[in-house]
Amino acid sequence: MTQHVLVLGAGIVGICCAIEMRRRGLDVTLVDRREPARETSYGNAGVLAGGSIFPEASPDLWRQLPHLLLNRGAHVHVHYGYLPRMVPFLTRFLRNTRRAVYIRNAGAIHALLDRAVDTHRVLAREAGASHLVRRRGWLKLYRSAKAFAASDGDEQLLRDHGVDFTRLDPAALAELEPGLKPVFAGARWITGAAAVSDPGALGTRYADLFRAMGGSIRTARIRALRKTADGWRAESDAGPIDAGRAVVALGAWSRALLAPLGYRLPLIAERGYHRHFEPPRTPLNRPIHDIESGFVMAPMDKGYRLTSGVEWAPLDATATPVQLDRILPRAREAVAIGAPVGDSWLGNRPQTPDSLPVIGEVPGHRNLWLATGHGHLGLSLGPVTGLLLARAVQGESSDIDLSPYSPARFG
Ligand SMILES: Cc1cc2nc3c(=O)[nH]c(=O)nc-3n(C[C@H](O)[C@H](O)[C@H](O)COP(=O)(O)OP(=O)(O)OC[C@H]3O[C@@H](n4cnc5c(N)ncnc54)[C@H](O)[C@@H]3O)c2cc1C
Repeated sequence: MTQHVLVLGAGIVGICCAIEMRRRGLDVTLVDRREPARETSYGNAGVLAGGSIFPEASPDLWRQLPHLLLNRGAHVHVHYGYLPRMVPFLTRFLRNTRRAVYIRNAGAIHALLDRAVDTHRVLAREAGASHLVRRRGWLKLYRSAKAFAASDGDEQLLRDHGVDFTRLDPAALAELEPGLKPVFAGARWITGAAAVSDPGALGTRYADLFRAMGGSIRTARIRALRKTADGWRAESDAGPIDAGRAVVALGAWSRALLAPLGYRLPLIAERGYHRHFEPPRTPLNRPIHDIESGFVMAPMDKGYRLTSGVEWAPLDATATPVQLDRILPRAREAVAIGAPVGDSWLGNRPQTPDSLPVIGEVPGHRNLWLATGHGHLGLSLGPVTGLLLARAVQGESSDIDLSPYSPARFG
């Protein structure tokens, strides 16, 4: 087997895998149909989201589900015609709402997320991109005292995992963040989190670092993956690309490439939108998450980026940014943002039923590796995933138990 490794997908996850394998002396080619970090890794909310250890499938979901499925709120928007195709995902998703499973999954998210800021800082320094990462935490905001009190269980989970946070009443919140209007009854300031002021630019810098380390980046659309005598062949519109090992890091597009190999990854695209706005007169110092309204807003280099909740729709469906229309009045209630800048953007979060990424070798397919399924946390978890994947590919031991993220959990 050659030491040549093919990484398919140059989103933040693929780029970081490529860097860490190159660092270990492997001959790595990174392939994408676009420039690096131009899909989901481009337009996210930019939060290195310490404290976001809560899996999507929560025990409370059953209570919320009827409302969510009515398409009236901003948290979830469903294309109803897509629901039948979501059944394999939803069946597993609902099984993950059991409390014991939820708590176990939260622990597995935390094990990775705990490293998010430090691993980014190391890479950002190497890539000359430290100015893009700012460590001032982020704010989880509650409009009603009732909702704040109802999140006490979450708070306990944060404590159980040693996540640093500060509870803020309205006065303390106003002092910390004078740019916020007084519409919140309480907040948690996740102090160890960080914010990236331009996630696309960070991805570009990391890709440049990979090139500077001697890595190769090719532009090609992958059509299929086949086993060869020596490893794996990616069939692409630029011809076949062979390597001893292949890593699939195609984000929400990973599933389609794996299905013909008989590996059925229960992965869906949780689509999400953003739009930029002119900054308010009093700037925010950190990103905010208005929990009840269902939006995240982050001060960024391109403007104030307002990001939406989840849309369950096919990957190739036309954009339907209705959630942006719903959250905008709520966002204006909270922050005096100005006029919109540019159009809305659509991205695809690669979501698994247990909210855990898939990192490891594909069962029954030697030398075929997976690094995908990072859902709402892929920006945060890119570097730590790259590190873990590279160690596993090289047979090195790791201080993080990889079994919760194993592709084998899906059979
Ligand atoms: C609105 C929104 C807000 C978010 N906010 C945050 C946040 O604040 N913090 C956080 O940590 N995460 C956040 N996320 C999640 C995060 O953006 C994703 O988890 C992450 O970008 C996934 O990275 P990836 O590399 O797996 O996928 P992607 O970035 O989607 O990369 C996949 C790559 O595969 C390529 N590709 C696909 N098919 C082919 C093919 N056939 N041939 C060649 N190339 C192909 C694509 O071009 C793309 O470059 C957010 C996501 C959204 C949508």
